[in-house]
Amino acid sequence: MRMNFGLPLRMAKGCWIVNVSRQCSHGSIGLFVPPSPPPDPEKVKELQRFITLSKRLLVMTGAGISTESGIPDYRSEKVGLYARTDRRPIQHRDFVQSALIRQRYWARNFVGWPQFSSHQPNPAHWALSNWERLGKLYWLVTQNVDALHSKAGSQRLTELHGCMHRVLCLDCGEQTLRGELQERFEVLNPTWSVEAHGLAPDGDVFLTDEQVQSFQVASCTRCGGPLKPDVVFFGDTVNPDKVDFVHRRVKEADSLLVVGSSLQVYSGYRFILTAREKKLPIAILNIGPTRSDKLACLKVDTRCGELLPLIDPH
Ligand SMILES: [Zn+2]
Repeated sequence: MRMNFGLPLRMAKGCWIVNVSRQCSHGSIGLFVPPSPPPDPEKVKELQRFITLSKRLLVMTGAGISTESGIPDYRSEKVGLYARTDRRPIQHRDFVQSALIRQRYWARNFVGWPQFSSHQPNPAHWALSNWERLGKLYWLVTQNVDALHSKAGSQRLTELHGCMHRVLCLDCGEQTLRGELQERFEVLNPTWSVEAHGLAPDGDVFLTDEQVQSFQVASCTRCGGPLKPDVVFFGDTVNPDKVDFVHRRVKEADSLLVVGSSLQVYSGYRFILTAREKKLPIAILNIGPTRSDKLACLKVDTRCGELLPLIDPH
């Protein structure tokens, strides 16, 4: 069920009104999580055994872990954005080369930010954070940019594709907080009003050309350069130092658990190949097929937030 309701912001100042198409937290799970059977007791036992035997467990998560927090992914069958709309994610080269594309991106991102930044961890994020606290999780690698692992308290964490909660200057490299940029946008656009229709995984929303053209974009406070979210857009590559770092963590691990990723993107899949070279046992928890099903000793098609809390990390 989709619920549309106006989200008035800064009404006290009477400055601008944003009407964001929101999904209520109850309905959003049904919207973005593919249908799946409840946990099969035998599979739960097998995963429990896998986790119990692990002494240096590396977990890799993807968009599938965050759909239960109401964030849509791009690839899930029937419910992912690829299936539901004709929208495609922004390309790195377009963003870097075109001020107009950056203006469109930031205008949409500005509208989507209050909702995107308000998403909360679900039981799967909390379970992994708990595993870390109890010494069960050696390292956590996520392909997500939603900061939900950080919000759940995970620290032994690599955000492979960066994080939407940080902003980077394309010229001088200065890193700032996305929340601070929102305040600058509000000051620059006191009378701007839009109506947005739907939220993408990267916090993007849908706007008309007229709405975009009147949006004032902020630039770097240090050098005046263009700003970009500190995330890896499609067509860009992950920082090689970060890739090396994760490869080392995989080589130090004794088992690998994939949670909520179809592993279609090479930036994550390459670590599965490294794990296979090292002959690490691999378990996959994902609704729907993945690129590595044949490499896994265990594959479970169940909601992450339903299954992970059932596992005893001791
Ligand atoms: Zn700068």
